[in-house]
Order: sequence, then structure tokens, then C-alpha cells
Amino acid sequence: MRAADDKAVKTVTFFRGDGIGPEISDSVFAIFQAAHVPVKFEIFDVGEAEYNRNGKLIPDDAFTSFEKTKVLLKSPITTPVGKGFRSLNVTMRKKYDLYANFRPAKSNSAVPTPFPNTDIVTFRENTEDLYAGVEEKISDNEMHSIKIITRDKSERICRSAFDFAVQNGRKKVTCIHKANIMKLTDGLFLDVFYEVAKDYPDIEAKDMIVDACCMNLVLDPSKFDVMVTENLYGDIITDLTSGLIGGVGLMPSANVGTDMAMFEAVHGSAPDIAGKNIANPTAFLWSACMMLDHIGLNEYGDMIRTAIKNVMDEGIHTTKDIGGKASTTEYTDAVINEVKKLLAMAA
Ligand code: NAD
Repeated sequence: MRAADDKAVKTVTFFRGDGIGPEISDSVFAIFQAAHVPVKFEIFDVGEAEYNRNGKLIPDDAFTSFEKTKVLLKSPITTPVGKGFRSLNVTMRKKYDLYANFRPAKSNSAVPTPFPNTDIVTFRENTEDLYAGVEEKISDNEMHSIKIITRDKSERICRSAFDFAVQNGRKKVTCIHKANIMKLTDGLFLDVFYEVAKDYPDIEAKDMIVDACCMNLVLDPSKFDVMVTENLYGDIITDLTSGLIGGVGLMPSANVGTDMAMFEAVHGSAPDIAGKNIANPTAFLWSACMMLDHIGLNEYGDMIRTAIKNVMDEGIHTTKDIGGKASTTEYTDAVINEVKKLLAMAA
């Protein structure tokens, strides 16, 4: 491992969020510091509390920083249900056209499940579909939500999934849809999928209706390799795939556009456990490792991933959500100890 000062320090924008956001952010800061990761964070508080303080959910400086650094590590943000402001996650994904939402679900040693060989990567289209939030009120008793699917946006997410499959030695890409009912919108997505598949003759291309997909995922997840799907199905299916490996505390994600990328855990701000020092920071840490890969600091990402794996294999310092007893800070300290051992071995 090279010392931090051997590498140019890279600047990354950081949104601290709310709920468990600050606690899991502290975990990332402490582990990055222990690992001498050559990253300087420009840190911004975003969300409802920031709105109440300064009248803006995301301060202008925070947007400016992301536009400059092009890389954002974002902890979860609370979105009021059924009222209030629009999801900041959706806002960021749309504003910066972060179209490819990459969500890997891989089983691990810390969580015994009936599916120890799960290794599924989902590519979720991130900018359109019902998630675009195009809704209208017809009357007090009738509301409409418009589902938008376009050829260009379907093509680029399908291509991302096949490119990933080729680059990572994957064998199969499955398109998840409901084209039997939504013949125009999902029909277009499915047609485009098979058109794109022709450019990747070495990868098996399959499709499955979303409800059948849910049943098959819980019966035998080994049937799935890479999945590609629209925005709303992707949102729901990836919570299911996280359940197969031990829950949302273990599911990282990347939201990637042409030249900008945002990394975040799949889970939300978990207000039910906020401030109790029991949140599992692993999903956010793994997202931070994906961010390190993205900016060319893979060796640091690999070191932190190995430290996390060692703690999970040992099984003593895992958090409550995956059956352990450790607090967030105890788990973080255990990962830091492993990082120090790895650094000492490499010295
Ligand atoms: P959630 O993911 O916050 O929580 C669901 C369940 O998982 C809760 O029981 C929670 O305690 C648990 N959980 C989540 N993360 C955990 C972790 N790291 N460690 C241990 N347990 C964890 O989903 P929710 O309760 O539906 O949403 C809460 C808020 O978060 C809502 O306002 C929602 O809009 C928002 N949200 C934000 C994001 C994001 O910022 N990317 C994503 C999803 C939801």
C-alpha cells in the first residue's frame, strides 16, 4: 500500500444527509482517515434541517461543488411521504442525468441465509418511468401518474448492463418488465433490450415478467446474474435482492451518468434507529469503496473491503440488523483495527 502523500489528493463532494446519515458518515470519515485514503471531502449538510435553517434543501455551494468534482458520496436523506418536497435523490439523479443505477447484491459470511451463493447485479434506469413524478390531479377523487419510457434512455441502460456483463465475465442479462400488460411502455423497453442484445452475442439475453421475477428470486436467486429494468421495478426488486443477502444495511449503489457519478447506500435515513448508534454503515462504506474504484483509487477500496470482510468473517463485531451485537462505533473500530493490520502487513 502506498502512503497517502504518494498520490495526488482527490476532491470529492459529500452530502451528510439526516436520520442515520451523520452516524454512518462519521464511520466513513474515521475509516478513510485510518486507511490514509488520499481524498479530501467538501462536506455539505442537506435535507429538511438545512431547509429549516437556510431555506434550501441543497445549498447552492453543494451543487457547485458536485459540478466541479463530478463525484458525490451521499448519505441518506429523509423524504416526507405523500406531501412536502420532492425526493432529493430523484432530484439529483434527474438534474445530473445519472442514468445508470448499479446495485450489487452478494451474499457474505456474516449473514447465514438460505441463499449463500447469491451474486446478482441490477441495473435500474434512473431518470424516467413512473418515478419521474409526472402526476396530475383530475379531481379530489381521481389522480393520474404518467409513465414515460423512451427508446434512447432504455437503450443506454440496457447497454450499461451488457457492457458490465462483458467487462466482468458475467454470462447472462435478464430484462425485467411487465410488457404483457403495459404493451406500449414496457413493450418498447423489452424491444430495445433485445435490439441491444444483438451487439453482445456472447452474453445470454433473457426476459422475465416482474411478478414472476419476484417469485423466482425468493425460490432460487442463483437463476439470476445481471438484471436490467425500469426505474420503479428496479427500486422494488433491489430491496428484495438486499433481503436475500441480509438486508438493506448491506446494499451499496452507484448512480452513474456520462461524466458525473453519485454513490449512496440503497437504504434510507432509517429514522426509527437514528441517533442510537446501532446503524450498520456497511452499505455506505461499500458505496464509498465503489466511489474509490471510480476515481482510480481501487487499492484503497480493496483494502477497506478486505477489512470489512475480515470483520464479517470473524463475526464478533457485526451490527444488530444482521444478527450481531456491536454498535456502529464498535463495528467501525473493528474495521479500523483490520485496516491497521493490513497497512502494517504491507509496510
Ligand atoms: P429505510 O431504508 O430508511 O429503513 C427501512 C428499515 O431498514 C428500517 O427498519 C431501518 O431501521 C432499517 N435500516 C435501514 N438502513 C439501515 C442500516 N444502515 N442499518 C440498520 N438498519 C437499517 O426506509 P424507510 O423507513 O422506508 O425510509 C426512511 C426515509 O428515508 C424516508 O424519508 C425515505 O423517503 C428515505 N429514503 C431515502 C433514500 C436515500 O436517501 N437514498 C433511500 C430510501 C429511502
